[in-house]
Parts: sequence; C-alpha cells; structure tokens
Amino acid sequence: MLKPDRIYNGKMKTLLSAILFLCLFAANVHLYSSTGHDVAIDCPLCGTKVSYWEQLSYSIFTYGLDLKPMGAARIPQPIPKCENCGFAFIEDYFNDEEIKTLRHHIVDQNAFSGKENFPDYYYLAFETELLNSKNYDEVVYFYVCSVWEYSFSKLTAEYMEKEGIENVNGINFETDKFIFLMQNAIEKINYLDNDSGQYNNMQLVKLDFLRRSNLFDEAKALIESIKNNERIYQGIAVDIIAYQIELIEKSDVNEHYLNEIEKND
Ligand SMILES: [Zn+2]
Repeated sequence: MLKPDRIYNGKMKTLLSAILFLCLFAANVHLYSSTGHDVAIDCPLCGTKVSYWEQLSYSIFTYGLDLKPMGAARIPQPIPKCENCGFAFIEDYFNDEEIKTLRHHIVDQNAFSGKENFPDYYYLAFETELLNSKNYDEVVYFYVCSVWEYSFSKLTAEYMEKEGIENVNGINFETDKFIFLMQNAIEKINYLDNDSGQYNNMQLVKLDFLRRSNLFDEAKALIESIKNNERIYQGIAVDIIAYQIELIEKSDVNEHYLNEIEKND
C-alpha cells in the first residue's frame, strides 16, 4: 500500500529515498548526509558536463501523509540537471529516440522558456509527459516528486531563515509556486486510470495536497469517495483518513507524518 515507488525497478530503485530532516543541516557541503558521492556525467542533450550528488544508501523512518518516504536521506533522490540546456534526467531512463525528441523540444524549441526555478523533478515530469512512449503512471509520480522536492526546499529555507544562515546554495522557495506544484500534481492524478497500479495510493496523495492547499471542501468530498471505495479504505488508509479529518477540523495545512498517528494511539 505505502509503496508509490514500486513501479520502478533496477536502477530506478536507487532513485527513491527519503529526505533527511535531522541530518539535513549537519553537512554544509550537500545539505544532507546519506551515503553517496559526486558524479560527473555528460548531458545527453547538449554534451555539457553535469555534476550531481548520487545517493547510494539511506534508511527510511516514516512516511508523510502524502506518502513521501522520510529518513536519513534526501527524498526524492537528487537527479542531474544540465545548467546549459536545463535538461533534468535519470541516467539510462530515456532511450536514444526519446533523447532525440527531447533535444528537439528543449534545445530547438525552447520548451522550458518561462519555466524558471522549478524543482528538478518538475522538468523530468514535463519531459516524460512530452513523450508518448512513457507510462502515464511515471509522469504522475514525477510530478508528485516535484512537490516532495520543493517541500525539502521549504524546510531548508525555513531553517536557514530561523538560524540566520546565508543562502549560499541558492535555495529557492516561493509559497505560490508550492501551491502551483500541488495543484498541478492533483490535476495529473485526476487523469489516472481507475485501474492504474498507482490509483489508490494517489488518491491519498491527492487528499493531502488538497488539505495543504487549503481546499478543505474538496478534501472532504474526496474523503467521502475514498470511504466508499473498499479497495482504498482499508488498513493504514483508515488511520490516515481519520487523521486527515482531524487536521481539516483544525484547518491545519502543514505537513504531517505517519509516525504521528502511531504516537496518537
Ligand atoms: Zn544540456
């Protein structure tokens, strides 16, 4: 149930991990402290050298109510993004034909113009959506990841402000953009097929994004529909729904985690 990442296999598996809340601020080089290393690779679109932090191992402590894994790691897994052409990618995820198509859209037709300072996963999702060759579940998943990634920026920005730390890493966070990313993910979730393997999980993700976007009436309507769907309304989902109702009653728009439910019991 709580494995929105199960659509991935092999190398993709290493992509999925949790953001680190406690260690987040311990390391000033990478802002997080899971095991990994710096990797330099060539951008498949324009050939520019791209370096990024490849996270290799991590542990997960709990999940957000939006099913985001949380632990001693950065979630979602950092991915390379070319500073020259803006291409965000996962190594070996796009085949040669897809790279050709994307080069046309991004380099020749400037598909990213007007889209500045979005999370890396937003670009990855957008690229995946441009192709007809990928599974729509993955498009939705990457858009959800863009919210998870931006939430990491939010935590980091809030922490730096609280501690008076200079923003040397260029952390960018805007509330309007955060709301946009959640709305955008909800819209993509709405187009998921009922029989998609991601459908049930994504209803819970959508519910959390609705609540955090202050759309309480829509959240309540979704709760009713989830309660009437026995494929979703079972196991931990029952606890999640009870907690969401509690949070909505308090007009709480913050992020919350499954381990809070366990503590409440
Ligand atoms: Zn490039």
